[in-house]
Amino acid sequence: MEVQCLRVISESVTCDAACPHCPYHGGKRRAEVDQFDFQRFKRARQFALQSGAVAMEIDAKGDPLLGEWTKIYQLLSEAGEDFPQIGLITPGKGILEEQDSFLNLIGWHLTNLTLTIPHHDPKKRKALLGLNLDYKSLVSYLRDECHVVVRASCLLSQQGISSPNEAFDFIHWCRETGIQQVVFKEIEIPEEGMDQNIASWCRENALELDFQENWNFENPGHAVFYVNSLVEQNHVRPVFVFPWGETVYDIDGVNVVFEKSEKNYYGKFIRFLVLSGNRLYARWESEGTIIF
Ligand code: SF4
Repeated sequence: MEVQCLRVISESVTCDAACPHCPYHGGKRRAEVDQFDFQRFKRARQFALQSGAVAMEIDAKGDPLLGEWTKIYQLLSEAGEDFPQIGLITPGKGILEEQDSFLNLIGWHLTNLTLTIPHHDPKKRKALLGLNLDYKSLVSYLRDECHVVVRASCLLSQQGISSPNEAFDFIHWCRETGIQQVVFKEIEIPEEGMDQNIASWCRENALELDFQENWNFENPGHAVFYVNSLVEQNHVRPVFVFPWGETVYDIDGVNVVFEKSEKNYYGKFIRFLVLSGNRLYARWESEGTIIF
């Protein structure tokens, strides 16, 4: 089996942000999961490494920085030597509020820090994230003090980034802000049983990425985002292709990838192994993909 990354869902917490596609936002706290099992984490790590993983990423159902920082510290210090790339995903509010603790406990272990940022326009950002942070200060702190590569994770949506021109503007805003990598993502069309308001927002706002490669989609979204029309413009340089088919671009000095939803992908490569609730899956909490 070939694997890119081990994603560790550290715990179930809440989030200060309020992304409309997310069930963990706005103070909604999920039922607590089992006590985190560090033995299971060790096994998952071994499994990922023996399957070729080069990265580990810490995530949560919510903002991992609203959980216990000592647990994150333990995860990072146990795995820090194993994986060349170590990342954490957060909207970022907790970093600005606790800069010294962040640097001491977490920052210096990381190679990459992913900020959830839905738009470059402050009004749209506020509407889609529920937060407006001082990104200039945050990014310069992360780069200069913590020495991490800063990545923006941006969901493509009808209400957010919905056209190649907007994507260009977002990329340019990232470059000016000091953000070095951008991941544009497709909305995951929700499973049955999800909160109906969230499910309808996702269905109404989904954008499908246009490139086909080896992906097999039976349920296209409501609109298509033409990645290829970006490539036709001068400033875009394809750099390499991931084994599962996505191309990584250099767009005006920013490292950019357009990430398809994993739901309908199958192939010999697993992009993320997911350790959640002390179980290891080949997809985020999908029982049908359980490994152990
Ligand atoms: S930042 Fe992440 S966890 Fe928080 S509301 Fe947005 S998607 Fe959900």
